Amino acid sequence: MNSDSVAMTDLSGKMHKPETVCIFGTGDFGRSLGLRLLQSGYSVVYGSRAPKNSLLLPKGSKVMTHAAAACDAHVVFVAVHREHYGFLSSLASDLEGKVLVDVSNNLKRGLYPESNAEYLSRLVPGATVVKAFNTISAWALQSGGLDANRQVLICGDCADAKQQVVDIAQSLGFTALDRGSLRAAAELEDLPLQLFPLWRLPLNIAICLTAFIFFYALTRDVIYERVTNGKDIAFRIMISLANKAFPIVSLVMLSLCYLPGALAGFLQLYNGTKYRRFPDWLDRWMLCRKQLGLLALAFGFLHVLYTLVIPIRYYVRYRINVYTISLVKDNNTYEFDNTAAWRYDSYYSMGILGFGLFVLLGITSLPSVSNSLNWREFCFVQSKLGYITLLLCTAHTFLYGWDRFLKPASYRWWMPPAYMLSLVVPCVVLILKLILITPCVDRNVTRIRQGWERQGKISANGRDTKTNHPLIA
Ligand code: NAP
Repeated sequence: MNSDSVAMTDLSGKMHKPETVCIFGTGDFGRSLGLRLLQSGYSVVYGSRAPKNSLLLPKGSKVMTHAAAACDAHVVFVAVHREHYGFLSSLASDLEGKVLVDVSNNLKRGLYPESNAEYLSRLVPGATVVKAFNTISAWALQSGGLDANRQVLICGDCADAKQQVVDIAQSLGFTALDRGSLRAAAELEDLPLQLFPLWRLPLNIAICLTAFIFFYALTRDVIYERVTNGKDIAFRIMISLANKAFPIVSLVMLSLCYLPGALAGFLQLYNGTKYRRFPDWLDRWMLCRKQLGLLALAFGFLHVLYTLVIPIRYYVRYRINVYTISLVKDNNTYEFDNTAAWRYDSYYSMGILGFGLFVLLGITSLPSVSNSLNWREFCFVQSKLGYITLLLCTAHTFLYGWDRFLKPASYRWWMPPAYMLSLVVPCVVLILKLILITPCVDRNVTRIRQGWERQGKISANGRDTKTNHPLIA
C-alpha cells in the first residue's frame, strides 16, 4: 500500500487496503480525478506513455506504464482523447475482464459514426465499458462538486460494472444517474456540446422583437420628425426608444408564455382527446415557456430601470422648466385634471402590481423554490397568478395609451403607436383564456384532461380513426 494513501478502517476498527483505481492519461482530467479519488480514500495508479516524465501528479499516486497500471486495478478510467484510443487495442489482454470508464467528449456533434464508448468497447471487447463522468469538468472535480454540477450520468450494458462506477461517483460526493445501456452514450457525449438549447428560440424571439420594435419606433418618432418637421431628436434613441422597445418585448414575450397553453387547450377540444400528440412546433414552444418568461422578466426589469431615470433626464427637466416658465410668463395656471390624476395613478399602480407578480413568477420558477411547492401550488402560481400578471400588464399598457388610438395625429405615416402593436398578442391570449374558463368549455377541457375521449376518436386497434396514427399512451 502506498504510504501516502488514506488507510480505511471498518466498523470493527480493522485497517483494510483501499481500493485501487487506475487512470490512463495524466492530463487535466486524469489529474483532477486522481486527486479527488485520493481524497476520498482510494489508491490511484496512473498509466502513462512516459511514466518518468509525468509531473504535477497528485501526491500519493503512482505512475507506471499502461500495462503495469492496468494490472493493479479492476476499474480503469480512460482519461485520453478518443483520437488516441488506438493504443488500447494492444492492451486488450491486460484489460480483459476490467471495467473501462469512458470519460471522453468530442469537439463537435456527429464527428464519428458511433459513440466513443461503443468504439472503446469494440477496441477492447474483453472489457466492460461504462460511460460516465464526461459531463463533469476537471474544474468541477477539483472544486469537489460544491459549486458545480453534482450529477454524474452513467450508461453501460453491465449492471455490475455500472454499480462499481456508481459507488465511486458517490464516494466522490456526486449523485449518479443511470441513463441506460451503452447505446445512450452518444446522447451523453452530446450533452456537453449543447449551448443553451432551450434558450435558443426565446433568445431569437427576443432579439427579433427588440430589433423590430426599435426600428418601428425609430421610423415613427425620429425619422418622421426629421422628414416632416426637420427636427433632430435622434438623442431619444438612447432612453426613450429603448424604453419603448423593452416593455413591449416584455409584454409580448409574457403572453407568448401563455399562448401555447391556450392553443393546446383548444387543440385538445378539437381532437376530443388528450392522447393525440401536439404538433412538434407546439411541443417545442411549450418546452421553452420558462425561458420565455425569464427573458420577459429581464426586459421588464430594464423597463423599470429606464423608467426610474426619467425624472433626472436633461430633456425632461428642460421640458418641465420651459413649460413652467411659459405658464408664469403668460400668467396662466396649471389646472388640476382629476381624470388625468386617476389615469396616471391607475397606470402606475397596474405597472407596479404587474411587475411585483412578475418577479414572484420568476422566483417560483427557480428550482430551489419550485421544488418546495407541490404541483397544485406550482400551477396556482404559474397559471393563475401568471394570467393575473398578464392582465395587469395589459391594463397598464391600455392606460398608457388611453385615448391616443382615437387621435389621427397618433398615426404617423399610417403607422399606429408601438404600444398598440404590443397589445395584439396579450389580448388574443386573454380572450382565448376567457373562452377556455367559461363553464361549458372548461367542463369539457377538464374531462378531456382527466382522460375522457369523444366517441369515435379511437378505433379498435388503438389508432386514431381520422389519421390512423397510433395514439400516445
Ligand atoms: P489532456 O489534458 O490533453 O490529457 C490527455 C492525456 O492523454 C495526456 O495527458 C496524455 O497522458 C494522454 N495522451 C495524449 N496523447 C496520447 C496518445 N497518443 N496515446 C496515449 N495517450 C495519450 O486532456 P484532458 O482534458 O485531461 O481530457 C482527457 C479526456 O477527458 C478527454 O477524452 C476529454 O474529452 C475528457 N474530459 C475532459 C474534461 C475536462 O474538463 N478536461 C471534462 C470531461 C471529459 P500521458 O502523457 O500520461 O500518456
